[in-house]
Amino acid sequence: MSLDTPLSSFPRIGPKSAAHLKRLGLTTARDLLFYFPTRYEDLSSLTAIGALRPGTHAVIQGTIIRVYTHRSFRKHMAITEIVVEDNTGAIKAIWFNQPYIGKALGEGATVNLAGKVIEDAHGIYLTNPLYELVTSPHQHTRHTGRIIPIYRETRGVTSKAIRYFLTSLLEIIKELPEYLPEEVLTRRNFPTLSNALQNVHYPETLSAAERARARFMFEHLFLVSLARELKTKKEAHKGTPLVIHLPEIKQCIDTLPFALTEAQKEAVWIILKDMAEEKPMQRLLNGDVGSGKTVVAALAAYNTILNARQVVVMAPTEILALQHFHTFSNLFRNLPIAIGMLAGKNTSYAFEGLSSPTKKKTLLENIKNGSVHIVIGTHALIQKETSFAHPALIVIDEQHRFGVAQRTHLMAAEHAIHGTIPHLLSMTATPIPRTLALTIFGDMDISILNEMPKGRKKIITSVIPPEKRAASYAFIREEVKKGFQTFVICPRIEAASSGEDNNHRPPTKQKTLWLEVKTVTEEYEKLQKQVFPDLRVGMLHGKMKPDEKEHIMRAFANQKLDILVSTSVVEVGVDIPNATVMLIESAERFGLAQLHQFRGRIGRNTHQSYCLLFTTSLSQLEARRLTALTKTQSGFVLAEMDLKLRGPGEFLGEEQSGWSDMVMAALRNPAMLSHAEEDARAFLREHSLREFPDLIKKLDEFTGTLNLV
Ligand code: ADP
Ligand code: MG
Repeated sequence: MSLDTPLSSFPRIGPKSAAHLKRLGLTTARDLLFYFPTRYEDLSSLTAIGALRPGTHAVIQGTIIRVYTHRSFRKHMAITEIVVEDNTGAIKAIWFNQPYIGKALGEGATVNLAGKVIEDAHGIYLTNPLYELVTSPHQHTRHTGRIIPIYRETRGVTSKAIRYFLTSLLEIIKELPEYLPEEVLTRRNFPTLSNALQNVHYPETLSAAERARARFMFEHLFLVSLARELKTKKEAHKGTPLVIHLPEIKQCIDTLPFALTEAQKEAVWIILKDMAEEKPMQRLLNGDVGSGKTVVAALAAYNTILNARQVVVMAPTEILALQHFHTFSNLFRNLPIAIGMLAGKNTSYAFEGLSSPTKKKTLLENIKNGSVHIVIGTHALIQKETSFAHPALIVIDEQHRFGVAQRTHLMAAEHAIHGTIPHLLSMTATPIPRTLALTIFGDMDISILNEMPKGRKKIITSVIPPEKRAASYAFIREEVKKGFQTFVICPRIEAASSGEDNNHRPPTKQKTLWLEVKTVTEEYEKLQKQVFPDLRVGMLHGKMKPDEKEHIMRAFANQKLDILVSTSVVEVGVDIPNATVMLIESAERFGLAQLHQFRGRIGRNTHQSYCLLFTTSLSQLEARRLTALTKTQSGFVLAEMDLKLRGPGEFLGEEQSGWSDMVMAALRNPAMLSHAEEDARAFLREHSLREFPDLIKKLDEFTGTLNLV
């Protein structure tokens, strides 16, 4: 038996369970051992039934004196009730929709129950408690009567089952070699791997569990730091050193309609220096919405062109690609720079600020022979037949929307043809907290644009109570009268399944999209027909054809529409300086980072702008989040908060949001990160990694999970 042994070959895990575990992404012993509990319940002391207090969690032990299973009248839900008694009193326990429990528990048996004590009109009882039959009182029980790890569950795999499966793996735990350097464990007072795994899954005390978790959190950050340190040491791939054409760059900056912020200047300078190096740049421009990332990228592009090399700019959507096309052609309108735009059927060409549609075939030829200096498009650029003319800079806007595969593809193609790797500039859609950025973009250098261009007015943000809806519409009408425009964002459709439905399959992406179409269409009709029949209302959603979308966006940009009702497709990057109101329906359904993104669509001019948040249901947590949004304009602050409250899914997209809570906790711990960085540096100073084969293996395994080129 080793860590790689498939779970299905353990005696306690049958084929059916193995299939269920697979859905949790668990196929080997390693997977299960590193599937950590999300929390613990301290069930180590029993409470006398007579002393139970409502609202608390408790463990009791008693004799079952009655078992009763029936169906609820209205919902046809199976309800199992038992009554348990000890010598201080008796209490009822109730389970919903778990009829098998009634069969497992017989009258006269002794049972441990752990759960929340509820008091309502029906009296005092325990709901859905953990249960374990006790054959001899005070026996060492697995699930109750001590500290119980609680795991994330899925259909067919309960926490209880996971605890049961794990007991098969105990033997493996004892033999695992330690991969972290001993000196680090000693310095930080962390348990060894075997101890830590033991204490994560079978803790004697809560504090032992905490130490074990801390070790794994630290481990994550230590490996991140090690990978980064090694990367800077490693002999890198060959890049293309580009000369810095300072006078031309300065001249170009002077012709901009605004002065660059200090943060922008710094970023431009460090990028130019990066690109002058022999090794390829890999830099992430981590900036707040509206901090002016595009112009930084444009200046990097200009310097590349001055070196007679091509630039490729990738955007996540056609709308954004088109916008970049316009921005770049406008910025370079006085320069002999040829720009090609390739997104779906949309192919255009611009030179000295004049743009016109062009035949795709011609454009592709000109891209290939290098007479197009800047190629702008969506990721279709690299999936299709496009051949580039040896580009030296790739700019990827809104980086985290792309898979690693696409980025790698482009790089690999260049490497195969020319033996060099282009410089890479990635730009984030939302500011990403540093701990998270390091983890996702472990291989990249990071520049932060945390300063907004001068003269931006603060956007007034308020949570609007339902009774003020009409007043808000009246306000929007006033703004439109002044010649301004409004965005209305429809709710995000949650991939949720209803409580009654035991079939927990999330709806497909397609289904979600169609639901959003329905919502946005209804909202659009309501606003156009009932609320603003005299105004020009448009609609935008993800199911529209690219040219329809573009048509609408262009109409809105050209002020042919007053109000744009949209799903979250407008989320990223769209620049409409004349829009002053952003109304968001069901704001509580969005993450703070995303709401901040929406808000970033307005206030792009000198006019006072307003962000109006409507909500449908507000828990206290949600209220706190939305209040934070009304109080701060800093995307970085909101991003930190989002990371704490909602986890990394908001930043990483759905696929990667399955990160363990422990990694999450690590990401929220900047102090631990600096310890880990310190230790990694010291370790590499004092040792050669070659002497630590287990650590090398772990590091390889780990970096495979990072977003590396
Ligand atoms: P983001 O970082 O969100 O991509 P953009 O690059 O789209 O932001 O810039 C937002 C707006 O701010 C654009 O209209 C751009 O022209 C303008 N802008 C950029 N830099 C400055 C600056 N230093 N001063 C004033 N306006 C600026
Ligand atoms: Mg942008």
